[in-house]
Amino acid sequence: MSEDREKTAAGRGEACAYCGSSRTVTRYITEQFPYGVGSQQVTLSATVPVVRCEECGGEFSGPEAEAARHEAVCRHLGLMSPRQIRALRARYGMSRREFAELTGIGQASLARWERGSLLQNAAMDRLLYLLEYAENVDRLRSRRTAAQDSCGDPPESHGSNGHGPRLRVFQPTPEDWRRARRFSPSWHRRTA
Ligand SMILES: [Zn+2]
Repeated sequence: MSEDREKTAAGRGEACAYCGSSRTVTRYITEQFPYGVGSQQVTLSATVPVVRCEECGGEFSGPEAEAARHEAVCRHLGLMSPRQIRALRARYGMSRREFAELTGIGQASLARWERGSLLQNAAMDRLLYLLEYAENVDRLRSRRTAAQDSCGDPPESHGSNGHGPRLRVFQPTPEDWRRARRFSPSWHRRTA
């Protein structure tokens, strides 16, 4: 399942997950793993760090390995990876909240994509891709500014005083229900 590859970074001292010793050695292996089901299944490969403890002999791979596998899946699916999404947001110096406000993407979803606990769908991925171009971010910003300028009144001033769009909520009366029943298919059956 996993084939060893050189690159041994000795003495990094990552604490052992079993005994807590810092006498550990990290090496990178190229791991093959299946992805997908049935005829869609493919074999992907990812280079993951594996930590071996010289104290107790235990071997483990942590979140870094999980992230590397996730990257491989994103590459395979043609989606932006968590690292690329984090880098995109960092490039514009935006907090998750600011990025969410600008794009309309939910803050919680964004956090999951960045952590790699959820894959964004194709439409969201394409939106993120377009935001790689700074001019598209500028367009969203100026659109938002324009919207604020023309619609900046507090919500309570909308509607009641004739300013702005008015939303009417349809509240059916007993008479409405009676009228609606006259057109129901069951009524036709009964009288045919
Ligand atoms: Zn150990």
